[in-house]
Amino acid sequence: MARRDARERLDELRRNPQQCEVPGCYAYRQKWGRYCEHHDRVNERTGHPEGHTIRKGQLRPYAARATEFIQEQHQHRGVQAALEWIEELLANAEDPGELHRSSLPSQRVGKWFHKMHLAGITAEEVLSTVVGLYLLRELDPRQFKSDRHFQHMLAIRVLRLVPAPFIQAWCNGEGRRLYHRIGVKMREHLADRLNAALGLLALRMAREIKKRMEEEQRQEWLDRLDGVADPFMKPDRDMVYHASPTGSEDKEGFELEHGDF
Ligand SMILES: [Zn+2]
Repeated sequence: MARRDARERLDELRRNPQQCEVPGCYAYRQKWGRYCEHHDRVNERTGHPEGHTIRKGQLRPYAARATEFIQEQHQHRGVQAALEWIEELLANAEDPGELHRSSLPSQRVGKWFHKMHLAGITAEEVLSTVVGLYLLRELDPRQFKSDRHFQHMLAIRVLRLVPAPFIQAWCNGEGRRLYHRIGVKMREHLADRLNAALGLLALRMAREIKKRMEEEQRQEWLDRLDGVADPFMKPDRDMVYHASPTGSEDKEGFELEHGDF
């Protein structure tokens, strides 16, 4: 039955090949997917067919703002709990040894976190990265094409605090060392964990930082021009139209108080 369904679908596709789902893209879809080859690859890499990778350099100023805020708020109970949670995650990460095709996303994440722990990455760096990304989204939401795109970038930027670990791969009977790639399932696994534990706090922190930045921006404008915040004068009564006190006697219902200037 399933085989017949598959054949019918192939026949149908052959009769009317369908276009990629991305608006404005007229390329044909992959055999089974929703997108053409190009958009499928971008979707795989970023979490959205039209997404782009948020680079470390782009995130840096936002992460720096977050670091400043975390240091200022080190006595906040939520911030303390978040840092402790991350510390535990780093300290308890287990290297599963060699990775295989069948390795679980949690094992793959474990390998990276183990490397981060050895490299001396701190809980504060991880939290700054998370809050920095939330801050970027608050200030410039168009950087993210969808929530999924955001989740993927969150996982990638956290893991990329260290260079990719090497993995052993076999190619024509020969062992080779390759960089480990961050797969889709791994990103989703890590983003889910980070958001469940830190999401609400990170959002609140990002919004508070944004509020301060807007206030700083306002202050900067005020400082730029003397008197820009002075209240404006009330309008001169003599210059204003107003309803005629006599009402119906006047055809128009209003007149200039001093009609002949
Ligand atoms: Zn396409």
